[in-house]
Amino acid sequence: MPVCSECGSLFFVGGVKAGSRKFCSERCAEKGKALLVADAIDPADIQRIATSFFDRACPICGKENGGVDIQRDHRLISAIVVQTFQNRRLICCRSCALKAQFGTLGLTSVLGWWSIRGIFMTPIWLGWNAIEIGKTLRRKPSRELSELLARETAESLLANAKITESQ
Ligand SMILES: [Zn+2]
Ligand SMILES: [Zn+2]
Repeated sequence: MPVCSECGSLFFVGGVKAGSRKFCSERCAEKGKALLVADAIDPADIQRIATSFFDRACPICGKENGGVDIQRDHRLISAIVVQTFQNRRLICCRSCALKAQFGTLGLTSVLGWWSIRGIFMTPIWLGWNAIEIGKTLRRKPSRELSELLARETAESLLANAKITESQ
Protein backbone atom coordinates (compact mmCIF):
# COMPACT_ATOMS: atom_id res chain seq x y z
CA MET A 1 0.00 0.00 0.00
CA PRO A 2 1.52 3.34 -1.01
CA VAL A 3 2.31 6.00 1.59
CA CYS A 4 2.05 9.66 0.65
CA SER A 5 5.53 11.24 0.65
CA GLU A 6 4.07 14.54 1.76
CA CYS A 7 1.45 13.86 4.47
CA GLY A 8 2.42 10.31 5.39
CA SER A 9 -1.09 8.89 4.99
CA LEU A 10 -1.83 5.53 3.39
CA PHE A 11 -3.99 5.47 0.31
CA PHE A 12 -5.50 2.71 -1.80
CA VAL A 13 -6.45 4.16 -5.16
CA GLY A 14 -5.38 7.03 -7.35
CA GLY A 15 -2.58 9.20 -6.16
CA VAL A 16 0.00 11.11 -8.13
CA LYS A 17 3.38 9.70 -9.11
CA ALA A 18 6.31 12.06 -9.50
CA GLY A 19 9.91 10.89 -9.76
CA SER A 20 10.47 8.25 -7.10
CA ARG A 21 7.73 9.77 -4.92
CA LYS A 22 4.03 9.07 -4.60
CA PHE A 23 1.45 11.52 -3.33
CA CYS A 24 -2.11 10.87 -2.17
CA SER A 25 -3.59 13.94 -3.90
CA GLU A 26 -2.85 16.82 -6.25
CA ARG A 27 -2.63 19.08 -3.23
CA CYS A 28 0.09 16.95 -1.61
CA ALA A 29 1.89 16.64 -4.97
CA GLU A 30 1.95 20.43 -5.20
CA LYS A 31 3.21 20.82 -1.63
CA GLY A 32 5.69 17.99 -2.18
CA LYS A 33 7.48 19.61 -5.12
CA ALA A 34 10.27 20.56 -2.74
CA LEU A 35 10.83 16.85 -2.02
CA LEU A 36 11.54 16.18 -5.69
CA VAL A 37 14.01 19.04 -5.77
CA ALA A 38 15.53 17.71 -2.54
CA ASP A 39 15.91 14.26 -4.14
CA ALA A 40 17.93 15.85 -6.94
CA ILE A 41 20.43 17.57 -4.64
CA ASP A 42 23.83 15.86 -4.47
CA PRO A 43 23.91 13.72 -1.26
CA ALA A 44 27.45 15.01 -0.60
CA ASP A 45 26.07 18.56 -0.46
CA ILE A 46 23.33 17.51 1.97
CA GLN A 47 25.90 15.77 4.11
CA ARG A 48 28.03 18.90 4.19
CA ILE A 49 25.04 21.05 5.17
CA ALA A 50 23.98 18.55 7.87
CA THR A 51 27.49 18.33 9.32
CA SER A 52 27.85 22.08 9.59
CA PHE A 53 24.41 22.25 11.26
CA PHE A 54 25.45 19.47 13.66
CA ASP A 55 28.59 21.40 14.67
CA ARG A 56 27.02 24.82 15.01
CA ALA A 57 26.23 26.67 18.25
CA CYS A 58 23.38 25.15 20.26
CA PRO A 59 20.29 27.45 20.25
CA ILE A 60 19.79 26.71 23.98
CA CYS A 61 23.25 26.77 25.59
CA GLY A 62 25.30 28.37 22.80
CA LYS A 63 28.02 25.72 22.92
CA GLU A 64 29.60 24.75 19.59
CA ASN A 65 30.36 21.25 18.29
CA GLY A 66 27.86 19.71 20.71
CA GLY A 67 25.93 17.72 18.12
CA VAL A 68 22.91 19.93 17.35
CA ASP A 69 20.16 17.68 16.00
CA ILE A 70 16.44 16.91 16.25
CA GLN A 71 15.92 15.52 19.74
CA ARG A 72 12.77 14.05 21.26
CA ASP A 73 11.30 13.01 24.57
CA HIS A 74 7.95 11.64 25.69
CA ARG A 75 6.33 12.48 29.02
CA LEU A 76 3.62 10.47 30.69
CA ILE A 77 1.83 11.65 33.81
CA SER A 78 -1.10 9.65 35.22
CA ALA A 79 -3.67 10.66 37.80
CA ILE A 80 -6.23 7.92 38.61
CA VAL A 81 -8.32 8.11 35.43
CA VAL A 82 -6.47 10.59 33.26
CA GLN A 83 -3.14 10.42 31.48
CA THR A 84 -1.28 13.41 30.20
CA PHE A 85 1.12 12.91 27.31
CA GLN A 86 3.61 15.32 26.00
CA ASN A 87 5.79 14.55 22.98
CA ARG A 88 8.47 17.17 22.64
CA ARG A 89 10.72 17.92 19.72
CA LEU A 90 13.76 20.03 20.43
CA ILE A 91 16.54 21.22 18.19
CA CYS A 92 19.51 21.44 20.51
CA CYS A 93 22.88 19.91 21.36
CA ARG A 94 23.54 16.51 22.85
CA SER A 95 24.02 17.67 26.43
CA CYS A 96 20.92 19.92 26.46
CA ALA A 97 18.92 17.01 25.00
CA LEU A 98 20.21 14.55 27.58
CA LYS A 99 19.32 16.94 30.39
CA ALA A 100 15.74 17.22 29.06
CA GLN A 101 15.46 13.49 28.34
CA PHE A 102 16.73 12.34 31.74
CA GLY A 103 14.37 14.88 33.36
CA THR A 104 11.48 13.35 31.42
CA LEU A 105 12.63 9.83 32.22
CA GLY A 106 12.69 10.70 35.95
CA LEU A 107 9.34 12.48 35.81
CA THR A 108 7.65 9.63 33.94
CA SER A 109 9.17 6.97 36.21
CA VAL A 110 7.70 8.77 39.25
CA LEU A 111 4.41 10.15 37.87
CA GLY A 112 3.55 7.71 35.07
CA TRP A 113 2.16 4.88 37.19
CA TRP A 114 -0.78 6.46 38.96
CA SER A 115 -3.63 5.04 36.91
CA ILE A 116 -4.60 1.57 35.68
CA ARG A 117 -3.46 2.35 32.16
CA GLY A 118 -0.39 4.10 33.50
CA ILE A 119 0.80 0.84 35.06
CA PHE A 120 0.95 -0.72 31.60
CA MET A 121 2.07 2.34 29.73
CA THR A 122 4.88 3.56 31.97
CA PRO A 123 7.37 0.77 31.11
CA ILE A 124 6.71 1.35 27.40
CA TRP A 125 7.20 5.10 27.76
CA LEU A 126 10.41 4.55 29.76
CA GLY A 127 11.71 2.27 27.00
CA TRP A 128 10.68 4.82 24.38
CA ASN A 129 12.68 7.54 26.16
CA ALA A 130 15.64 5.20 26.52
CA ILE A 131 15.58 4.73 22.73
CA GLU A 132 15.53 8.53 22.27
CA ILE A 133 18.52 8.86 24.62
CA GLY A 134 20.33 6.23 22.53
CA LYS A 135 19.63 8.28 19.41
CA THR A 136 20.89 11.46 21.09
CA LEU A 137 24.25 9.78 21.79
CA ARG A 138 24.93 9.52 18.03
CA ARG A 139 28.07 11.17 16.74
CA LYS A 140 26.75 11.87 13.26
CA PRO A 141 23.80 13.95 12.04
CA SER A 142 20.59 11.91 12.03
CA ARG A 143 18.80 10.94 8.85
CA GLU A 144 15.83 12.97 10.01
CA LEU A 145 17.99 16.09 10.29
CA SER A 146 19.53 15.49 6.85
CA GLU A 147 16.05 15.08 5.34
CA LEU A 148 14.78 18.24 7.02
CA LEU A 149 17.77 20.26 5.82
CA ALA A 150 17.50 18.80 2.31
CA ARG A 151 13.89 19.94 2.19
CA GLU A 152 14.72 23.40 3.50
CA THR A 153 17.47 23.75 0.93
CA ALA A 154 15.06 22.65 -1.81
CA GLU A 155 12.42 25.11 -0.63
CA SER A 156 14.85 28.01 -0.74
CA LEU A 157 15.99 26.92 -4.22
CA LEU A 158 12.34 26.90 -5.36
CA ALA A 159 11.71 30.30 -3.76
CA ASN A 160 14.78 31.75 -5.52
CA ALA A 161 13.66 30.25 -8.82
CA LYS A 162 10.28 31.95 -8.40
CA ILE A 163 11.91 35.33 -7.77
CA THR A 164 14.06 34.94 -10.89
CA GLU A 165 11.00 33.92 -12.92
CA SER A 166 9.01 36.98 -11.91
CA GLN A 167 11.83 39.39 -12.73
ZN1 LIG B 1 -0.82 13.29 1.11
ZN1 LIG C 1 22.99 22.94 24.25
